[in-house]
Amino acid sequence: EDTVARIAAGEVVERPASAVKELVENSLDADASRIDVTVESGGTELIRVADDGQGMSEADLRAAVRQHTTSKIADLDDLEGGVTTLGFRGEALHTIGSVSRLRIRSRPRASGADGEGANGRAEAAGGGPGTGGTELVYEGGTVTNVEPAGCPEGTTVEVTDLFYNTPARRKFLKTTATEFAHVNRVVTRYALANPAVAISLTHDGREVFATTGQGDLQAAVLAVYGREVAASMIAVEASGDDLPPGPVESVSGLVSHPETNRSTREYLATYVNGRAITADAIREGIVGAYGTQLGTDRYPFVVCFLSVPGEAVDVNVHPRKREVRFDDADAVRRQVDSAIESALLEHGL
Ligand code: ADP
Ligand code: MG
Repeated sequence: EDTVARIAAGEVVERPASAVKELVENSLDADASRIDVTVESGGTELIRVADDGQGMSEADLRAAVRQHTTSKIADLDDLEGGVTTLGFRGEALHTIGSVSRLRIRSRPRASGADGEGANGRAEAAGGGPGTGGTELVYEGGTVTNVEPAGCPEGTTVEVTDLFYNTPARRKFLKTTATEFAHVNRVVTRYALANPAVAISLTHDGREVFATTGQGDLQAAVLAVYGREVAASMIAVEASGDDLPPGPVESVSGLVSHPETNRSTREYLATYVNGRAITADAIREGIVGAYGTQLGTDRYPFVVCFLSVPGEAVDVNVHPRKREVRFDDADAVRRQVDSAIESALLEHGL
């Protein structure tokens, strides 16, 4: 009903991939050890994110879709940490739900069953199916149903008919292939940054990738990009005196052999202080390290983690696109270039 709110929501949730990003972050925040992302028609028809995280009680669920509601006090620290000042605190579910039909099924982890996260497949602790969980339906910004539900521990969020009530936004969506490419990119970034969480992505019934959650970065790269790329990866590890002067304290990750390159930037997965970001200085540093070995308009596969003091990063360039800039961009470019060049040199490249 609230047109202004819907327009605002359409600007925050730009496309299916933006909703996927928020839902996967929530699952990670809920300490999930597995996250299964399922989308149909690039996410325009359906987005489902199922996790085995902490879960929510009925009261938690009702609160979760309210505006400006967050259970994350720790976020206050984040806000001072620089790069982590992103998005809309306590607004994701509310906002997504105001431009879609949202169905959330959740069940809190059994109390007392601490230690290793339950896999959620266990029998109901205090009863059979039909107990223990709650389902909440939220349509166009209104809670339309809440009822008990039999479900495993954890949370499953289903978003259908995204932008059904904002035709202008819906019209703005690109082809299924393009929307899915954005979704794939988002889920890939999280899968690579969280090798200890089993993350899968399924599109229109086809499993695109699934990490095991038991491996390291190399194992995650294998699951996501396949054997050829994984086999070509070269480790990068540089910190302190290894690096030229500049704000970057360490650079680590994997970069591909120059022969395994591609014609798009899509495979540059770069992170600052654990957050997936893009930055011109980092991209230029990567390209510079390969020099002419890469070929014109070619890019390697890169998964690269930088640690940088928060005050050296400007996150306000484009918070939602996760683009950052550095006060001393030239130094960052030189540091990334040097870290990767040393790794390539060690391999005689
Ligand atoms: P935020 O993440 O900024 O707190 P959200 O709107 O994304 O805001 O979520 C609101 C609240 O709902 C969260 O603070 C959390 O308590 C709860 N929540 C959302 N998703 C999950 C999930 N997958 N598992 C457990 N709790 C969740
Ligand atoms: Mg959130």
